[in-house]
Amino acid sequence: MQKQQEKHTEKSKSCKVFGPVATVFGSSNTGSWRLLRPVVNFGECIKCGTCERYCPVNVVEVHEDKDECVAIDLDYCKGCGICANECPRKCIAMVDERSVE
Ligand code: SF4
Ligand code: SF4
Repeated sequence: MQKQQEKHTEKSKSCKVFGPVATVFGSSNTGSWRLLRPVVNFGECIKCGTCERYCPVNVVEVHEDKDECVAIDLDYCKGCGICANECPRKCIAMVDERSVE
């Protein structure tokens, strides 16, 4: 767990966009208590990379060569909804964690 957090903290340092969520909570594992989770409609995604650029904790990766083209590290996603808000296709839904699984 400790090593995983340290690894993620190093990754976050390379992020271009920092905000309070990233600087204070970036390395916190939020996978078990986040309230909302981003769910991508891959069929509508145009792989523009906007979500990747705007995520304050740098947990989004867009893969142009894959059908499931947007990968989100849900162990560290904060559920802030910035990706969903910025997506030009509005193909990211913020879903109540209690309604999944
Ligand atoms: S911002 Fe939206 S359309 Fe662009 S890559 Fe992300 S999910 Fe796809
Ligand atoms: S909700 Fe989106 S922008 Fe916010 S931390 Fe998760 S992936 Fe990043």
